[in-house]
Amino acid sequence: MNLMMKLNSDSVKKYILDIFFPNRCPFCGKVIKWNEPCCEKCESEIPFISTEHCKRCGQEICICSDTKIYYDGCVSITDYKGVVREGIVNLKLDKAVNIVDVFKDDIYKRISQMVDISNIDIVTSVPMHRLAKQKRGYNQSDVIAKTVSKIINKHNCLRILKKSRNDIAQHELGRYERAEAVKGLFYIDRKYADEISKKTILLCDDIITTGSTLNECSRVLKENGAKAVYCFTIASTHLNND
Ligand SMILES: [Zn+2]
Ligand SMILES: [Zn+2]
Repeated sequence: MNLMMKLNSDSVKKYILDIFFPNRCPFCGKVIKWNEPCCEKCESEIPFISTEHCKRCGQEICICSDTKIYYDGCVSITDYKGVVREGIVNLKLDKAVNIVDVFKDDIYKRISQMVDISNIDIVTSVPMHRLAKQKRGYNQSDVIAKTVSKIINKHNCLRILKKSRNDIAQHELGRYERAEAVKGLFYIDRKYADEISKKTILLCDDIITTGSTLNECSRVLKENGAKAVYCFTIASTHLNND
């Protein structure tokens, strides 16, 4: 199937689905046209990142000098506030799985500013614990990774990383505590060991805060043979307490 036909069949699907499940703005929930990514008001309020972030650690205040960073680069698109905060909360409630579509053009642009996209072999996601995923029914990072893989036209494999325990909420913790809390939290599904060997991987998540989770996932991927790991998140935030 050529690209034009594929795009058309995706549009037809969207159009027909819209009759039964009206398209909604992923940020505020307002009903919008089937072919619109979000409402005009929310679009004008998206807090795109306006400050320079370190291209390596992905942080506004670089932590490269005092933290061992295992990933090779990290980019995000927006700050985690305002309509984007609403949208990501909705994404976790199954009401805004279309949020990623809003950022289609930005996703391609930002990732290609970080890495030559032709070098990426696989797109994957930060895993949820099996029980947490069962409860929610899906992993929001999988939703992001799937759309990103479509946008950059790369293969996705969402089962590479596994999470070993259903951990405590990290938002209570500071940067060093978070780094400790995620140690040993992730492992590789041995079935996919060959798949990551010598590969360049794009790891997707919804938000980066301290980067501890992405860093621990990257460490595991690299120790299991990945050549390079780049990270992508929709939003970026930082802790106020350190
Ligand atoms: Zn809206
Ligand atoms: Zn840095």
